[in-house]
Amino acid sequence: MNSPVNSQRLFEEAQHFIPGGVNSPVRAFKAVGGNPLFIKSAKGAFITDQDDNEYIELINSWGPMILGHGNEKIAEAVKSAVENSLSFGAPTAIEVEMAKLISSMMPSIEKVRMVNSGTEATMSAIRLARGYTGRDKMIKFEGCYHGHGDSFLIAAGSGAITLGEPDSPGVTRGVANDTLTVPYNDLGKVEEVINANEDQVAAIIVEPVAGNMGCVLPAKDFLEGLRRLCDANGIVLIFDEVMTGFRLSKAGAQGVYNVKPDLTTLGKIIGGGMPVGAYGGKREIMDYVSPQGPVYQAGTLSGNPVAMAAGLAMLTQINEDKSLYTDLANRTKAIEEGFQSNLDELGLGYTMNRIGSMVSLFFTNERVVDFEKAKSSSMEKFGLYFREMLNQGIYLAPSQYETLFISKSITEDLVGRIVEANRTALKAIH
Ligand SMILES: *Cc1c(COP(=O)(O)O)cnc(C)c1O
Repeated sequence: MNSPVNSQRLFEEAQHFIPGGVNSPVRAFKAVGGNPLFIKSAKGAFITDQDDNEYIELINSWGPMILGHGNEKIAEAVKSAVENSLSFGAPTAIEVEMAKLISSMMPSIEKVRMVNSGTEATMSAIRLARGYTGRDKMIKFEGCYHGHGDSFLIAAGSGAITLGEPDSPGVTRGVANDTLTVPYNDLGKVEEVINANEDQVAAIIVEPVAGNMGCVLPAKDFLEGLRRLCDANGIVLIFDEVMTGFRLSKAGAQGVYNVKPDLTTLGKIIGGGMPVGAYGGKREIMDYVSPQGPVYQAGTLSGNPVAMAAGLAMLTQINEDKSLYTDLANRTKAIEEGFQSNLDELGLGYTMNRIGSMVSLFFTNERVVDFEKAKSSSMEKFGLYFREMLNQGIYLAPSQYETLFISKSITEDLVGRIVEANRTALKAIH
């Protein structure tokens, strides 16, 4: 391994001109100690830093690169789109094709609006739910992440049943009052909050499989229960599938659990690596979006032709690959089983959660079903583990609260290397 002198120099320079030296906070390695690696290129399952170190990478750009880096069909589609100019700000044929394909893959989406990020998708979906119901409040879950829109940066307050607390300076109390935060997988609490805010709740937004507190699965009947409560109380159910959409199945988590939301938000994979998001759902609700309806939402670069070319090439491949999701699940299961046998051998009782190609190892002996339990994972142990894995050429997300993403480029051979590195790292830190 070369000493990361170039990354070091770039990080020092970056900190003069970019807040914290990064354009998104979790990249800064603050949770694991040390400085971030600056990345030069990636191909397949491998990523190369500015000091020419090569790592097996399990971040997938935080989700999008499910087919591995440098997918040729996506690259070709982007190159040929570029030939026709980068942007028009007018409707294009490829947007229609994209909308049709999304709707055919994810049947709860009858109409869809393209935006430029997951954050934009969730912000717009919430505004739409409020406009549609004529109500102000929303319910979200502790440990779920829905991007950095003001109304999502709210923690459960002391009077959590009726009032939230700003979770970041700059978010107003007024906004906080409209967001109610409930523990994940706690249907009883959701019902209590709905009853305490009768006829005021516009939407419940949830990650149907949580991926932003590590991987946490919905309890049996949790999603069905939310559906039931929304139906009974005239509330819009929003599945935030920015991470799970096209990751867990062609139809996302809703396809796996067979629960239909009213609205779905998408991002990450849908752009094939380009900045894309989308929100869509029931026709009756989507028809409230301008210019058809009164709820305003717009975007100069929305549906950008280069981004659509990348996204369409991604979704087309996913749609046509009959064995993709079983292959990914099998590889990921092999990693899970390998890690488990390492834990058993070392007498460690740590918890693992997995579904499809998402898997998390928590440094706690508790079963992780919500954020409270996820927080029982040892940050210190995770930091040590992260650095040991990196030293062995395995690049994990620099946060305990991320899942590992397995891409199509992770071959059986690489599974073996990852499991072996896990064994060495676990041994080294205990
Ligand atoms: C990543 C993510 C977002 C935010 O998407 P950005 O493109 O980063 O704005 C929203 N919701 C979920 C579930 C996510 O994982």
